Amino acid sequence: MAELLARLYPKAYVSSLTDISPAYFREKGIKGLILDLDNTIIPWKAGIIAPEMIELIKRYRESGLGLCVVSNALNNRVVDLLGPLGIPSVARARKPLRRPFIKAQDILGTTTRETAVVGDQLFTDILGGNRLGFYTVLVRPISKKEFIGTRLVRLVEKLLLNRLVKKGIIDSPQ
Ligand SMILES: [Mg+2]
Repeated sequence: MAELLARLYPKAYVSSLTDISPAYFREKGIKGLILDLDNTIIPWKAGIIAPEMIELIKRYRESGLGLCVVSNALNNRVVDLLGPLGIPSVARARKPLRRPFIKAQDILGTTTRETAVVGDQLFTDILGGNRLGFYTVLVRPISKKEFIGTRLVRLVEKLLLNRLVKKGIIDSPQ
C-alpha cells in the first residue's frame, strides 16, 4: 500500500507552471518537459492559451528545454491549440498508461533523468510520470471547472496532498 501511494507523490508541488523558471529545471539537469494541457496550460476545455503562458513557453524554449504535450483530450483540439506554437503533442493519451509518455520521451529525445512531467492530476500525470521514473511536478488546476468524475478524484487527492505537505515529503520550487 505504501509503495502504491508513493507512486502518486509528486517530487514538487507549485501553484502554477508560471511559478517555475527555466533555471529550476536546468539546475536539475532536466532537458525535456512533458506537459499536461487542460488545467495545467489552459483552463479546462478552453480554446485559447493565456498570453502569460505563451510567454513562459517561449522562455522555456529559449533556455533550451524541449516541450511536448501529453493530453487525454481529443486530437483535433490539442493540435489546434498547440500546432500554431509548434509544440508537438500526444493526444487521446489515456494517462496514466505508459505508452503516451514513452512516445513523448521519444519526441523529446531525452533520457529518463532528463525528463520531467508537469500536470494537475495525481492519478494521471503524476502516476504516469512516476511509473517511468521521470521528475514529476504537480500544479494547482487553473480552473475549478472540470469533468464531473475528476471532481470526485480531487477529494482523494486533497487528502493525500495534505498528508504529503504535513510530512514534508514534497519539495516546493518557490
Ligand atoms: Mg489536467
